[in-house]
Amino acid sequence: MTGDRLNLLNHDRRGLEARFAELGEKPFRARQILQWIYQRNVDDFAVMTDLSKALRARLADCAEVRPPEVVMDRDSDDGSRKWLLRLADGNCIETVFIPGPDRGTLCVSSQVGCALNCSFCSTATQGFNRNLEVSEIIGQLLIANRLLGAGEAGARPVTNVVMMGMGEPLLNFDNVVAAMWLMRDDLAFGLSKRRITLSTSGIVPEMDRLREACDVSLAVSLHATNDALRDELVPINRKYPIAELLAACRRYVGDDGRRRVTFEYVMLDGINDSDRHARELLRLLEGVPSKINLIPFNPFPHTRYRRSRPERILAFQEILARAGIVTITRKTRGDDIDAACGQLAGDFRDRTRRRESRLQTRLQEGLY
Ligand code: SAH
Repeated sequence: MTGDRLNLLNHDRRGLEARFAELGEKPFRARQILQWIYQRNVDDFAVMTDLSKALRARLADCAEVRPPEVVMDRDSDDGSRKWLLRLADGNCIETVFIPGPDRGTLCVSSQVGCALNCSFCSTATQGFNRNLEVSEIIGQLLIANRLLGAGEAGARPVTNVVMMGMGEPLLNFDNVVAAMWLMRDDLAFGLSKRRITLSTSGIVPEMDRLREACDVSLAVSLHATNDALRDELVPINRKYPIAELLAACRRYVGDDGRRRVTFEYVMLDGINDSDRHARELLRLLEGVPSKINLIPFNPFPHTRYRRSRPERILAFQEILARAGIVTITRKTRGDDIDAACGQLAGDFRDRTRRRESRLQTRLQEGLY
């Protein structure tokens, strides 16, 4: 079914109000719908009894609430859980839930594939396919909460969202911002802006726009302490080098002294993990209110990199911590189900290949 139906998951509150105005309906109808969908977990218009019968019939006719379809659901031994979701066009994306003692974090994808080509990331190897729609982004949260047992009573297992799945969220700016508004909206998920973290490889102009469009916590994938190395690891650095990136970070947090940027730093054996690199990192971040998140590299097939040894990571962390910077080493979670940082991709890649070979066959058969 569908195609020309209005998928209500594609709009934040403002967008829905505008759509309803086009239908000649009052804006508060949009607000009622938001609550039905996101707070009561209802997608059947017939059940939405505070809407008029006529509106219910109309919506049943022209609208739908359609998140992606779950095609695989895997549990890791460490409690994390990964879903493979199929989109309407057949592409697949991954979403990962990471439970903690005091929170439940969902790692959300923003694009099918990624265009940035970071040399240590498995998503990069599959190339870029397309941006996700709002429904495909917010649908990840809706599905996770449902499958983790949220009911009509409104329990919400997901308390935090990190935009750290597949893709570069700032290169899908409008849809990511609308989805994050739904995460924040009290009529939808009601998460505080501190519980939503957007991670970027450093798309400087969009970092400035983000602060205005939807203020959330910012994480930046730094990974290197000089431009020569960062050019190699995170090629977008050639366009927005470290000095410009850090200036944007300072603008983002402002100078009220309360906010900090989280810098992500992947620990690559023999590449960026020496004591000298740690000291360079300290110098670099002087004057930038920061926290550091060390991520032990997660290997994937055909990678040229290795994970730094645990003692090396500890020594690196100690240099930073001794200088007073809050530094944590991210626990490797879900690697038994290929759900760790930078490992989201495999299934989709294989699917693409299958699709390509189908296409090849059809081309040979002269069908296209
Ligand atoms: N494109 C955004 C969002 C991805 S977030 C960004 O670059 O920030 C995922 C985080 O995991 C990023 O910091 C990314 O650099 C890191 N990462 C990618 N591949 C990894 C790997 N193989 N091992 C560990 N971390 C990796």
